[in-house]
Amino acid sequence: MIVRTLKQIHKMAGGLNDISEHGGIEVHGVSIDSRNISKKNLFVPLNGEQVNGHQYVEMAISQGASASLWQEDVPNPPKGVPLIVVTDTLKALQHLAEGYRNELTIKVVGITGSNGKTTTKDMTAALLETTYRVHKTSGNYNNHIGLPLTILSMTEDTEAAVLEMGMSSRGEIEFLSKLARPDVAIITNIGEAHLLDLGSREEIANAKFEIMVGLSENGTLIYHGDEPLLQSRVRDKQVSNRILSFGRSDTNDLYPLTIKQEKDSTIFTLPETMGEYIIPVLGNHNVLNALAAMLAAKELHVDEESIRKGLRSFQLTHMRMEMVEGLRGEKIINDAYNASPTSMKAAIELIEDLTGFPDKYLVLGDMLELGPQEQGFHEKIGELIDPEKINKVFTFGELGKAIAEGAGKRFSSENIFAFQDKNDLIAELRKHAKANDVILVKASRGMKLEEVVHALQK
Ligand code: ATP
Ligand code: MG
Repeated sequence: MIVRTLKQIHKMAGGLNDISEHGGIEVHGVSIDSRNISKKNLFVPLNGEQVNGHQYVEMAISQGASASLWQEDVPNPPKGVPLIVVTDTLKALQHLAEGYRNELTIKVVGITGSNGKTTTKDMTAALLETTYRVHKTSGNYNNHIGLPLTILSMTEDTEAAVLEMGMSSRGEIEFLSKLARPDVAIITNIGEAHLLDLGSREEIANAKFEIMVGLSENGTLIYHGDEPLLQSRVRDKQVSNRILSFGRSDTNDLYPLTIKQEKDSTIFTLPETMGEYIIPVLGNHNVLNALAAMLAAKELHVDEESIRKGLRSFQLTHMRMEMVEGLRGEKIINDAYNASPTSMKAAIELIEDLTGFPDKYLVLGDMLELGPQEQGFHEKIGELIDPEKINKVFTFGELGKAIAEGAGKRFSSENIFAFQDKNDLIAELRKHAKANDVILVKASRGMKLEEVVHALQK
């Protein structure tokens, strides 16, 4: 984490007041949550919609913070507390992170895209960790607050940082990219997610491409080369950076020759390199994430053997395609963390390709935030499901019903179940699922479908 004197912090954050009295105080790291203060933290009170962090400044100090920021238009600053007065506490937090990043001599990998950011981030970090001291975004801290906090929590001896960049509207990735100044930029893919805010896939592609703004002059862009919207942007924008692509197609710089799904891992081979690569997760889409991570690691000179080792060691963040066992020995793939049409399709294809299981079931719920075309998206997902490869489809929720309707065009009705009540769904599922059956559980976070997973484990 950042360690500086208050005098230095004052300068980096654009302090307006005279702090010479407290200038020698040391700050160790930054926190925006008064319930979660570590000793000597700088507390940064943010003005949220619900709460104004300024009311917790004294509490933060009493919890061990050594100083706090204070926004100048907020009345009644507490007396006797080391405060740095700034125009805007959020902007000051961002300036602090920007200044800190610029003082560090690190290699930065920035990752954006509609799906697979966190997975690719964790994979890239696993590969780089074989060779460097690595700092990565923890969990999903990928926005205009999370990214600055991630940067500020980095220790000074960090050699490589792997940073996730998320967005919901235009301009956000540009902002984050300028802040992080990546040496390697990865665009994992363009999905249907966030249609609500951005309108079209073209606009989503433009938004992701904003990562180029902060990419260092001799940095490398790594992108999903099977996506025409990215291909055309690479071509049209006359990017002067080094460019590498990954994908399924053999026109890419890195593509898999073969992919094989085992019970809880995926094995793939590459055209030029001998031998197999093993990732301890399921799904063809995770091979693509691994390829992106491998390209990034190679750009930062990680050797072949370390890459192979790193891939094996990588740990998936909780609730993303996690295989757990039900009470009766069912193999449940818990992917209840989130869902968009792209990720839903990838997950269904994964289950369809699995062999060696007695029966295969899908438990699918609403994909939220898809805008006016949401019904159509759900119906299409249903139509995609292959009755030759999946035994039964269970849906949950209002939009889930549209998935069942789509599936109804090919499935016979006794193999489709649509529920509005989770307990009814669980009861029906229990009637069918037996040892070694595989069950995919997937929906948007808000649907809380992990409750189904937990029920099957009790
Ligand atoms: P968020 O926007 O929530 O931060 P993310 O981009 O970080 O999401 P992950 O958390 O890595 O994405 O994965 C979310 C889900 O997307 C996974 O559970 C998986 O089903 C799916 N997914 C992961 N990688 C890909 C990919 N390359 N293509 C399509 N779907 C993917
Ligand atoms: Mg993420």
